[in-house]
Amino acid sequence: MKLDNGNARRVGVISDIHGNLEALEAVLTSFAEARVDRIFCCGDVVGYGASPNECIELLRRREIPTVLGNHDAAVLNDDELVFFNEMARDAALWTRGVLTEESRRWLSSLPMTISRYGSLFVHASPTDPAEWNYVLTYGEARRAFKAIEEPLCFLGHSHQPFFITLRFGEIDHIREDVMTLGENTSHLVNVGSVGQPRDRDPRASSVIWDLAQGTITLNRVEYDVARAQQKIRMISGHATLAERLARGE
Ligand code: ZN
Repeated sequence: MKLDNGNARRVGVISDIHGNLEALEAVLTSFAEARVDRIFCCGDVVGYGASPNECIELLRRREIPTVLGNHDAAVLNDDELVFFNEMARDAALWTRGVLTEESRRWLSSLPMTISRYGSLFVHASPTDPAEWNYVLTYGEARRAFKAIEEPLCFLGHSHQPFFITLRFGEIDHIREDVMTLGENTSHLVNVGSVGQPRDRDPRASSVIWDLAQGTITLNRVEYDVARAQQKIRMISGHATLAERLARGE
């Protein structure tokens, strides 16, 4: 697979930070240790967690290209709140209340997709990004592959990391932590969630794409869960929001 890499050697991809600054800082530290030289974010920077402005500030300072997620959109626009449960809605409204004007303006500026290095970055399924569809089944993966021209697509949204490939019409689910990019193959990568993993592994999730090696590696890092929980308990009456971080669900 040949890609125009713009001189990047290792690309870190994050998603679904959800205002969890402790998790975001831990992931950025792990990227520095792995000598990642470009970072992209697949959206949902805010919602649920207690540090939305701080997370936005960090992404802005690092100039990390970011796409819009459904929770980011819900903070900006009431129409997007319609499909939210009470907990998600309360979190979005709290976030809306504390967001600085600068943060709000930054969120408003986010695109639905970014195409770079021959790969596509999007929050939910690329079939129709603003519909926020999940990619959870092989059928949904097949539809997602149909919608992309690039051989590689990074997404988030479900908070469950996966590597799925399409080669000569055959779908394959790579169950290892490293995927080697293949010729004549399309690749769909869910990078998992930095700030609220839901695959029963509480460690922050992200991936590292090594352009020279042609590999994508799942990157799980421990962070100060107790501190993130403590901050959520101070701002939210929904105990689940804090508890779930320790269980990774
Ligand atoms: Zn999310």
